[in-house]
Amino acid sequence: MTTDTLHRALVELLGDAARVHSTPAIVERLSKDFYWYSPILKRQLEDKRAEIIAQPVATDEVIALAGFAARNQIPITVRGAGTGNYGQCIPLAGGIVLDMSGMDKLEAITPDGVAVCQPGLRLAVIETEARKIGWELRMYPSTLAKASVGGFLAGGSGGIGSVAHGGLRDFDTVRAIEIVTMEAEPRVVLLEGAAIHEVLHCWGTNGIITRIWFALTPAVDWTQATIAFEDYEQAFLFAKSVAEDSCWTKRLVTVFEWPIPSFFAPIQQVTVEGKTLVLIMIASPQIERLREAAKTANGQVTFAGEYIGPRTQPLLSDYTWNHTTLWAMKADPKWTYIQAGFSPERCLDQFRLLRARYGNEILFHIEFMKNGQGVVVPGSIPLVYFTTEERLNELIAYCREIGVFVANPHVNYLEDSGRFRSDSLQLQARHKYDPQGLLNPGKMISFHTEAATK
Ligand SMILES: Cc1cc2nc3c(=O)[nH]c(=O)nc-3n(C[C@H](O)[C@H](O)[C@H](O)COP(=O)(O)OP(=O)(O)OC[C@H]3O[C@@H](n4cnc5c(N)ncnc54)[C@H](O)[C@@H]3O)c2cc1C
Repeated sequence: MTTDTLHRALVELLGDAARVHSTPAIVERLSKDFYWYSPILKRQLEDKRAEIIAQPVATDEVIALAGFAARNQIPITVRGAGTGNYGQCIPLAGGIVLDMSGMDKLEAITPDGVAVCQPGLRLAVIETEARKIGWELRMYPSTLAKASVGGFLAGGSGGIGSVAHGGLRDFDTVRAIEIVTMEAEPRVVLLEGAAIHEVLHCWGTNGIITRIWFALTPAVDWTQATIAFEDYEQAFLFAKSVAEDSCWTKRLVTVFEWPIPSFFAPIQQVTVEGKTLVLIMIASPQIERLREAAKTANGQVTFAGEYIGPRTQPLLSDYTWNHTTLWAMKADPKWTYIQAGFSPERCLDQFRLLRARYGNEILFHIEFMKNGQGVVVPGSIPLVYFTTEERLNELIAYCREIGVFVANPHVNYLEDSGRFRSDSLQLQARHKYDPQGLLNPGKMISFHTEAATK
């Protein structure tokens, strides 16, 4: 099918020419995400793009598009806001990009605190609307302002709030997901309870998410605080004590080793030359107690200010999680990152081993988070100064050798991304919901390997 024929067919399906695009500049823009965070993916994915973009505004339209594409063996890659880091929504085999940003309704917040919404809704809208009635997001990525709920569920893992509520896959935060299947006659399937794990964090490879039930938590009055410490280990241990001790009500506990704070150009007033910075979102009634604890630990509080929602200025979460890497890359494009998890018991040894071997080629950036067993662990997105692919892979291998978990953000497939299930639940779901392997082809490589060896 030529692009012109495809364009005409999609306009007819949607009944609206304004929501189908084959203009190269638009196609290019809506085919890309933040893949360039990785120097390796930048090279691999630069020339990949869709053939055409379709922008549905209702589930019926998604059904019509999926059925048409399945009958004609045309790949579909679903797109939320395109803030993913690993080229998750970059189509490897052309076809249609389904831009879900028009499906952005917040349908309800139930009396027991569950947001019911369409996938293209921005997370910031839920946070703002929920806080008006006493609820807030349990967790969100630092891309809160832009990222969509569907993209977060299909591509993200956790973020601000995870120190208290774990990751997306934990503690029934995602109550239910409705998907449209990729079949000649698409079905609408409701996944509830444990069944959500069939499609959660699957990069849109085994179902098109069209509706979400997302559990919230009672809202808290938060204060954002920054504390500077002379020494990295001292700072880390202070942050660890706050993160682990359940007497503190917190939403974020982050540690930035110097010189990372020097990369945060707009908030230099909260940093101190040469010092490690700890950033904490703490329940406002606890701020005076936090000041005292920081003083006892030789920390210097450099800022304390109220959080009033996504419009807070400065919004300190803009410097945390994977925003830290962005600020580093602005200072020097050679900085890149890995996604790691240190051992709660052996972390100080692990830091020392990495420092001894790699010096300042690795800078420690810690994000404490609760794991699925309820234990708070030092998650981490360390910065790595890129020289060669071999050196980066060697560093990842060494981390694993010394017991540091690594989810490799320099690969473009699910299996090495740290969230692929060994029980092959997601792979089996693909056989049920996308038997031809047309959704985001190439990203769940075990499906294609399996097909090739049959
Ligand atoms: C600066 C920066 C900071 C970040 N910080 C964090 C962080 O703190 N925590 C975190 O988890 N992530 C983080 N990320 C990654 C990313 O921002 C989040 O995962 C975000 O939630 C993705 O949302 P999105 O709408 O942009 O998704 P997209 O990038 O558009 O899509 C992500 C994946 O989901 C799929 N998808 C999108 N919508 C659907 C749908 N309706 N149905 C099926 N599949 C779908 C896409 O195909 C793609 O594979 C960060 C990224 C950047 C650039």
